Amino acid sequence: MSDPDFLVVGAGVAGLSFAHSVLGEKRSALVVERNDHVGGLARSYRYGDFWFDVGPKRFHTEDQEVLDFLFSVLGDDHIVVGRSSAVHLFGRYFPWPLDHRALFRLPFKVMVSSGLDLLRRSAPKDENSFTEYTRSRYGDTLYRLFFKPYTEKFLQIPCEDVHVDWAKTGINRAVIDKRVKSESLFDLVRTVLLPTPVDTKFLYPSYGGFGTFCEKIAGQVRERGGDILLDNTVRSIETDGGKVVEVALADGRRLRPGHLVWSGNLKALARLLGKEPPPIRYLSTILYNMEIDRDVLQQQQWIYYGGQDTVLSRVSVTNEMADYMAPKGKAGLCVEVTGFEGKGHWGNPEALIPEIQADLVRLKLVSSQSDFGGVHVERVRDTYPIYDLDYKESFAKASGMVKPFENLKLLGRTGAYWYNNSDHSMKMALQMARHLLKGTPMEAKEALFRV
Ligand SMILES: Cc1cc2nc3c(=O)[nH]c(=O)nc-3n(C[C@H](O)[C@H](O)[C@H](O)COP(=O)(O)OP(=O)(O)OC[C@H]3O[C@@H](n4cnc5c(N)ncnc54)[C@H](O)[C@@H]3O)c2cc1C
Repeated sequence: MSDPDFLVVGAGVAGLSFAHSVLGEKRSALVVERNDHVGGLARSYRYGDFWFDVGPKRFHTEDQEVLDFLFSVLGDDHIVVGRSSAVHLFGRYFPWPLDHRALFRLPFKVMVSSGLDLLRRSAPKDENSFTEYTRSRYGDTLYRLFFKPYTEKFLQIPCEDVHVDWAKTGINRAVIDKRVKSESLFDLVRTVLLPTPVDTKFLYPSYGGFGTFCEKIAGQVRERGGDILLDNTVRSIETDGGKVVEVALADGRRLRPGHLVWSGNLKALARLLGKEPPPIRYLSTILYNMEIDRDVLQQQQWIYYGGQDTVLSRVSVTNEMADYMAPKGKAGLCVEVTGFEGKGHWGNPEALIPEIQADLVRLKLVSSQSDFGGVHVERVRDTYPIYDLDYKESFAKASGMVKPFENLKLLGRTGAYWYNNSDHSMKMALQMARHLLKGTPMEAKEALFRV
């Protein structure tokens, strides 16, 4: 194999989009992926007639370049889906974002104390604090009853250690539709009392789950002459005078690429560069992909569970994303349990299955224990960068270790330590391809996030 212009680590949305772009400009690209499958966090799983994604997935962007790219890859193989999600609070299901019917179903005491919170609104004392931000926007009652327990269960660190960017990003992600005002409790109440009908649409592949996007783009990368090496990784990196000069792969190949574009785990990169790993932490997720022998009791695409009485943080109902995800009359549930690689349930996730199944019945999502069919457990590494109070300084250390090497670049959600959506990874990849080929400037992540 000849030395590629671009050696790309990671066959996720970012790595594949980047390779696709540079190949389109007649440069050579080789993608190296540690898994036996393309797609990274945007892959799908197939078990017989059931399809599952890595948690709930939808495409939504207002950026014309990203949309054009998306359509150029998917062509007609997409459907347009309405959005529906819910939150389980006080033993009941409420639509999320809350609507006017939900307001009157909240327990009386909660209504009263949330109402008092509205009167006591104050500016956050610490601009960087998740706790301060969430309290000042939603009030102490909702913070204590939902945001704190949900976030601590999800992130596995105390809320007091979480950066405000986690709240800003997370709430944007959960809401998406800018017409639904939920930036504060005040906005929520106003939206609740004066509801504007909101009908958010998003794109989804018409077969094969969300992962079809990556499968198709990987096919086009190969058609354009690019290569994707699965089950492979970087074994060593040799640098000289501010450049990466040689990269050895796990399969023994030695390459001298023009550029090394890294969309993988940053701690692994630090070790390869012989540097102290930066103090960043990635959360990982255990997925329990469950076949259910009949329809479930909630018709929502996904549901948040904040309660401490269950290990589940979110469940998606796959066939609510697209009919073809489960056979007719059956349902698919993707249950997410977050944690750290190698810790807690990671070593023996199957042991949790009985508890999760009992919870799904108790939480009135599945009608009876006898409805459960096959359960497929998948461990997904590096699903979320943890935004703790020091995360910006920690990422600065990581990017500082790369800066001395002019032909080494960080890309995407995992590589740029970025709590983002797939459209942001695409945008960054397209910009980086232009930047490296034509010298156009790259926008900061904050600007890309507004896309
Ligand atoms: C539960 C969940 C729900 C989400 N929901 C949505 C949604 O609704 N809509 C949306 O648009 N986005 C959503 N996202 C975000 C979306 O999945 C990501 O933004 C996108 O998939 C990131 O792509 P990436 O290529 O930047 O990173 P990744 O997908 O992380 O790709 C990195 C790749 O590098 C590989 N790799 C890592 N280290 C190495 C190494 N050392 N050697 C070789 N390979 C390596 C990994 O295996 C992986 O394939 C969600 C994410 C999660 C986790």
